[in-house]
Parts: sequence; structure tokens; C-alpha cells
Amino acid sequence: MHTKYDFLIVGAGLYGAVFAHEAKKAGKTCLIIDKRNHIGGNVYTEKVEDIQVHRYGAHIFHTSSKEIWQYVNQFAEFNRYTNSPIANYKGELYNLPFNMNTFNKMWGVNTPQEAKQKIEQQRRDSYVENPRTLEEQAINLVGRDIYEKLIRGYTEKQWGRPCHELPAFIIRRLPVRFTYDNNYFNDPYQGIPIGGYTAMVEKMIEGIEVQLDTDYLADKAYWDSKADRIVYTGPIDAYFDYTFGVLAYRSLNFDTELLDTDNYQGNAVVNYTDLETPYTRIIEHKHFELGTQPRTIITREYSVEWKLGDEPYYPINDEQNSKLYDQYKQLAEAEPHVIFGGRLGEYKYYDMDKVIAAALQRAHEVLT
Ligand code: FAD
Ligand code: UDP
Repeated sequence: MHTKYDFLIVGAGLYGAVFAHEAKKAGKTCLIIDKRNHIGGNVYTEKVEDIQVHRYGAHIFHTSSKEIWQYVNQFAEFNRYTNSPIANYKGELYNLPFNMNTFNKMWGVNTPQEAKQKIEQQRRDSYVENPRTLEEQAINLVGRDIYEKLIRGYTEKQWGRPCHELPAFIIRRLPVRFTYDNNYFNDPYQGIPIGGYTAMVEKMIEGIEVQLDTDYLADKAYWDSKADRIVYTGPIDAYFDYTFGVLAYRSLNFDTELLDTDNYQGNAVVNYTDLETPYTRIIEHKHFELGTQPRTIITREYSVEWKLGDEPYYPINDEQNSKLYDQYKQLAEAEPHVIFGGRLGEYKYYDMDKVIAAALQRAHEVLT
């Protein structure tokens, strides 16, 4: 170990790994530390029974940016996986995202015109001019039947609150299509890194020192003495010892099982959209890599209330938490030798491509 580095990088997730890669390329010395016992942060995958298991939930890489697609392809080859989840509502199966296959199954309509008429008919009774709640937004978008069967239960389980209390923006990004196209994403580039995300991150940080099982905040003064500048990708409120209060998250529990069958559900992702099934979805990992292994591994995903000490997953970007974050951001701006980045450092729901773009942008600003 050197006595002093140009950068100490706190967090071996995508943000930290991309920043470290760029810093090394620019001739800087870096030390990466992570409190977990592995690299990769939430995109970490682990090989079990020859299957890449997504330990922190399903991760599908997709982007509309050619530049980001070319960037990640330096570190891994991607397969042709296309996300097409199935919704299971009390045993009835529907295609997602909402498209002609969904409308055909729901109402027996065959043409886009028939589907549009059906939605129009359904929303006539409940149309709201400027939808503010998720419920209003959903009914405006796809009508009451789809809202009741495919949105309400899933969303209330996911967020632990009734849809009429949730902000509309949560489902604004869900595509609605009048074509028979089950691709969940609109982005032109999509896939899963062959060999897993962990191998991809390993390649990003090749030749850079990493120390795992190491909590920066447990001995901050010591770690600060190791470098001129810090890249901090942990929770911003924890960095400031929760001075203004605790930022809220939604957490997840994962229940993973190895099954003695080669194919459990025939698809990588099946969402359970009724309110009664306690989990939101079941992931069958082998289908992400179009796998043919003799056995299979599934994970049931439960959305749970978060409290301090639990794993933070989804930031709750409501008004109260956004204001609290702004207060922390002001404190962060007064510490110019620290770069706060990533989904915890910026308290932001970032997809992988966006977090990579943000790290590249910051590295470019700092290193040139
Ligand atoms: P993280 O991966 O969380 O990395 C932060 C690291 O910092 C962690 O390893 C943590 O242990 C470490 N750390 C924190 N505090 C300390 C400390 N005090 N000391 C030392 N280390 C510390 N995006 C997509 O594009 N497609 C998807 O399909 C997708 N699916 C998702 C599914 C789920 C369930 C979730 C929660 C997210 C999903 N995402 C997806 C988003 C994706 O996970 C993020 O974009 C990405 O992981 C963010 O990387 P990061 O480096 O900012 O954070
Ligand atoms: N959603 C839904 N039914 C589904 C899938 C998604 O109602 O079967 C809604 C739900 O409100 C969810 C939002 O769409 O919070 C975004 O879902 P997505 O799967 O895009 O997000 P993820 O949770 O995987 O990041």
C-alpha cells in the first residue's frame, strides 16, 4: 500500500469503478475501499451452479447513448437479452410493458384502433386534466382495467402506500405501445454482460488497489489522510452524521432458492401484480444469460419499509426528502476536496448507464 494516493475512492460500485478507471488512465494513483466483502456494489453477480446470480436484484443494461454502450463494451461482451417481463395477476398472464399483446389478452381487441377506443371508453368516466397522483396518471394512460389488474397491487406493494397518495412521475417512464412489441425498454442498446457484472467491474478496476470489508466512516480521519481527494459514493446523510436528519429509502428482501428443475417459469422476470401475493416479482437468473444449465435459481423479491441500518435501495424523492437532500448538498459543496457521486452520494434513482455517464462527466471535469 502507498502512503498517499491522488484519490481515495469510497465504494466499488459502478460510479467508483468508472471514476477509478478514468483516474488511472490519466496517470493518477487510486485506492478503492468498500465496506462490503465484494466489488461491484449493487450490480454484483455471483456464479452459483454455473448461473450468474444477481445478488441485489435483476440488472438489465440498457441505454440510448451510443457512447456509453461503446464504453461498457470495452470491459465486457454483451448478450442479446431483451427484457420482456410477464405480469401474473391471480394466474392470468399478461405481457409487459403495456402493448397490443396486453390489450388483446385484457379485452380481446386485435387492432390499435380498437385498443385506443377501449382505453378512451374506460377513461372517459375518470379523466383528470392535470394528473397529480399515480392513480390519476395510470387511469389517464391505460384505463381502469389495466390499472386495477396490473398497476395498483404491484405499485402499492412496491411503495407501501396507496396509489392515490403516490406521485404520478413514478410510472411516467413506463412505455405504452400500440404495437405487438414486448421489449420493456425503448433504448436501442440492451443486454447482459457475458460472464456477469462482477467480471465487468473487475476489468474496469484492473491494476487498482482495492480493500474490502472496510468502512470509511468507521475511521474517516485515517482514510482522509491517505489521499488528497476523496470520491465518496456512500449515503450523503451518513457522511455528515445525519446532522439534518435521515434520508428515507425503500428497501428490499431477497429470498433465493436453488431448484431441481431446468426451467421454473420460462422467463427471467415475472411480476406478481395482485396485492395478496407478498412478493413483487420472481427472477429466474439463468434466463438473463439464455442459460441451459440443468438446474435453476430463482429469487423472490419483497419490497419492505426501510429503517437506518437496512440496505438502502430506492430513494424516496418526495418533497420532504428532496428538501433534506438539498440541505446536505449545500454542506457537500463546502467540501471541495470530496466528490459526492452515485445513487447514494447524490440520493438519486440512477440507472446503470446514467451512473456511468455521471462518473465519466465528473472524471472529465476533475482530471482535465
Ligand atoms: P452502489 O452500487 O450502491 O455502490 C456504492 C458502494 O459504496 C457499495 O458497494 C457500498 O457498499 C459502498 N459504501 C457505502 N458506504 C460506504 C462506506 N461508508 N465505506 C465503504 N464503502 C461504502 N439499473 C439499470 O440500468 N438496469 C436495471 O435493470 C437496474 N435494476 C435495478 C434493480 C434494483 C433492485 C436496484 C436497487 C437498482 C437497479 N438499477 C438498475 C440501478 C443500479 O443498481 C445503479 O445504477 C448502480 O448500482 C449505482 O451504482 P453506484 O456506484 O452509484 O452505487
Ligand atoms: N409497475 C406496475 N406494474 C408492473 C411493473 C411496474 O405498476 O408490473 C409500476 C410500479 O409503480 C413501479 C413503476 O411502474 O414502481 C416502475 O417500474 P419499473 O419496473 O420500471 O421499475 P423498477 O422498480 O424495476 O426500477
